[in-house]
Amino acid sequence: MLIGIPVSHGISIAPAVRLTHTAPTAQKPVDAPVDVARELVLFDQSVEQTREQLDLLREQTNLQLGPEKAAILSAHLAFLEDPAFVGEMKSLIESQPISSAAAVEQVAAQYISLFESMDDDYMRERADDIRDVSRRLVRNLSGEDTSVYYPEEPFILVALDITPSETLQLPIQNVRGIVTAKGGATSHAAILARSLGIPAVMGVGEQLLAEVEPGGLLILDGATGELYIQPNRDTLSRYQEKAALEAAERQVYETMRDLPAETLDGHRVQLVANMAVPDEADALVESGIEGIGLFRSEFLFMDRSSLPDEEEQFHAYKRVASAFGDNPVIIRTLDVGGDKHLPALALAQEENPFLGFRAIRISLARPALFRVQLRALLRASAFGHLLIMFPMISHMEQLREAKAMLEQAKSELREEGISFDENIPVGMMMEIPGACLQADAFAKEVQFFSIGTNDLVQYTLAVDRMNAEIADLYSYYHPAVLRLISNVIEASHRAGIWTGLCGEMAGDPLATKLLLGLGLDEFSGSASVMPKVKERIRSTTLEQAKQLAAHALTLPTAADVVQFLKDETE
Ligand code: PEP
Ligand code: MG
Repeated sequence: MLIGIPVSHGISIAPAVRLTHTAPTAQKPVDAPVDVARELVLFDQSVEQTREQLDLLREQTNLQLGPEKAAILSAHLAFLEDPAFVGEMKSLIESQPISSAAAVEQVAAQYISLFESMDDDYMRERADDIRDVSRRLVRNLSGEDTSVYYPEEPFILVALDITPSETLQLPIQNVRGIVTAKGGATSHAAILARSLGIPAVMGVGEQLLAEVEPGGLLILDGATGELYIQPNRDTLSRYQEKAALEAAERQVYETMRDLPAETLDGHRVQLVANMAVPDEADALVESGIEGIGLFRSEFLFMDRSSLPDEEEQFHAYKRVASAFGDNPVIIRTLDVGGDKHLPALALAQEENPFLGFRAIRISLARPALFRVQLRALLRASAFGHLLIMFPMISHMEQLREAKAMLEQAKSELREEGISFDENIPVGMMMEIPGACLQADAFAKEVQFFSIGTNDLVQYTLAVDRMNAEIADLYSYYHPAVLRLISNVIEASHRAGIWTGLCGEMAGDPLATKLLLGLGLDEFSGSASVMPKVKERIRSTTLEQAKQLAAHALTLPTAADVVQFLKDETE
């Protein structure tokens, strides 16, 4: 199994097809004389041919996918029309002299490294555009067919990297997934994969190409970033089941898309989704989800060598807030450390990273960093219904300090005459047992809680969430975890505030009735699993769920709880 960055969710099972980028064949051997006049004619022809191809592709894309996607191809065309870009290639052919293909490659390489060295994400990704255009130019020069032939059967595309125009040319009816060695969640190709609904995992690392045999069976899980190569029978049947469940869920969901998450006796809860990159927002709104229960802001900070500034963060948060309109969007402040590395912060290696310098501890220790994020969040709050959440609070002092910094950022913005939501709700993750035991005290200081079972389990049971060796000890059905959850929800209700849950447990349909019965107000999981949760909510009464939860709380082991829930609900 290899693991990469989850870019576009969905499960796919299909044979691998390699996207190979052909090396230029038009290059002359080093000592062969170059006919400059002929190379210049060939070059002009290739530019013209490339322009025609891109024009056609832009037209098709506009018709099929709309103007926003077609704009990517306009960006490619702009490079072809840039006299500096094309001019440099021509003068290189004349001055060296070298073949036209070699000139394209040399100039493109200079531009690519220039763009890749820029701080701005957007500019860095322009390197992809140049790669795309120059590959096309070279192929046209070589007289090769620029269209890639794909099989008529379903397949998963495996590539070192993939450009936007290559993504647009994929046969949508047969491509079941994309996996690349390079690339990240914010590349154009990743954005396209999401909006085309193709499951994708990127940035797997160069070993991908060595390990995947063309034609070999792959399983790709776009929600977790997992890629199984030549899976064994057990894994295959597990994923076949998962994929079938996903397909069935999609159908069920279609019929329930606009129905409320309400029990048979009229008790309404909120079903929202977790998200990692702002580009997912439109697809999530489209899917009918009622808001965002956890936006993991750290993904804006990862995979890059510099930190996003206030402006970049503001645009990202604003984009999500405005996509959801009046629906709530909870943005969690930076939660790095543990398993999430942040090259730009150069954090030291730790013996116990999950117990170390992580999340709010980093934000409070680096007030300049935190201040930028708080200002960006506040500014974005003027454009939607934004809520702020602090991760990994264990001590009351941390919460108070974070809130004081938020107030400080507010007064700065007030002085600068910048508008924001004066009453922006503030909440905290409940993911450390100590905080859960002290929930009554914390409830007086925030407007909401969100229980993070992913961490709560590991801290309550002292079971590393990353260690496969002890995975059988890791369960959110453990009675101690259930008691903490119950304690948090009850304390919040006594104080008149609400509690959500944004760990993986929220998306587990087996846990739905139990959580409902414990009084949970909001469920936030991956969008693809929430339909099933909605169905579970709509098929019970609150009274039944409460009875079920009360009994579950009396059981002595996680296995007993699981068995009981299976007997009761399946
Ligand atoms: C959690 O801990 O449950 C949670 C939602 O946060 P993360 O998985 O990002 O640590
Ligand atoms: Mg957590």
